[in-house]
Amino acid sequence: GNLPTPPGLSFLTEDLEDKVRSAGESFQFETEVTKMMKLIINSLYKTKEIFLRELISNASDALDKIRFRALTDKKALGDTPDLKITLVADKERNTLTITDSGVGMTFKELKANLGTIAKSGTAEFLATVESQKNNTNLIGQFGVGFYSSFLVADRVTVVTKNNEDKQWIWESTSESNFRIIEDPRGNTLGRGTQIVLHLKPDAREYLEENRLRELVHRHSEFVSFPIYLWATKT
Ligand code: ADP
Ligand code: MG
Repeated sequence: GNLPTPPGLSFLTEDLEDKVRSAGESFQFETEVTKMMKLIINSLYKTKEIFLRELISNASDALDKIRFRALTDKKALGDTPDLKITLVADKERNTLTITDSGVGMTFKELKANLGTIAKSGTAEFLATVESQKNNTNLIGQFGVGFYSSFLVADRVTVVTKNNEDKQWIWESTSESNFRIIEDPRGNTLGRGTQIVLHLKPDAREYLEENRLRELVHRHSEFVSFPIYLWATKT
C-alpha cells in the first residue's frame, strides 16, 4: 500500500531504531512499573482497544498543558502553533503512530514518566487488584495509561521534544529495561510527542481505517483537539 505522508511529519527509519537499540542508554523499569505492565497485559487482553483511548488522552493532556502555558508565554507555541493529534496507520511497516504537538517531555521527564517513577497510587492499586483476584472491570476503570501500549505492541518507540530540551528517543520491548538516546536527526517534531507502536501479529486490526475511526468515536469523542487519521489504502 502507498502511505501518503502527512505534511510536516517525519518518521523513524529502521536504521535509527536499530541505533537506539545498540547505542541507547539502558535504564531499568521500576518494580511497580513492571508489575503494572504485567497486570495490564495479563488482564486486559480482551479489551485491548483501550490503548488508543489512553494514548489519545495523554496527547490531549499534553496539548492542554502547552495551550495553558501559551496564555502567559506568547513564545511557547513557537514554530509549532497547530495543536493537534495525528494518527498514522502504516501497513507496510506494521506501525500505528500517534503524534501530538503538545508540551513534549524533557529527558528527565521522559525517564521518570515512562519507566522509573510509578504513578502515585500504583502500589495501592496493585494491592487492591491482588485482593480482588484480577477483577478486570476494576482494572479497566482505572486509567491504565501509557503502558497499555503493550497490549497491542511488542515494541514501542517514543520521540519527544519539549521547549526546554533537545529531542529524545525512548524505546522498549516491555521487558525489564528501556533505552533512551538523543535523536541524531535533531529536532524533527518542532514540539510534542510521537508514539510508534510496532503492532503484535494479533493486533493488525488497528491498522484498519474503519476500526480506528470507530475507536476514536467510541472512546475519544470529547477530546477538544482535532484528530487526523491517515491510513494505508487497501
Ligand atoms: P497519566 O496520564 O495518568 O499521568 P500515563 O501512564 O498515561 O499516566 O502517562 C504517564 C505520564 O507520561 C503522563 O502523566 C505524562 O507526564 C507523560 N506522558 C505520557 N504521554 C505523553 C505525551 N503524549 N506527551 C507528553 N507527556 C506524556
Ligand atoms: Mg494517561
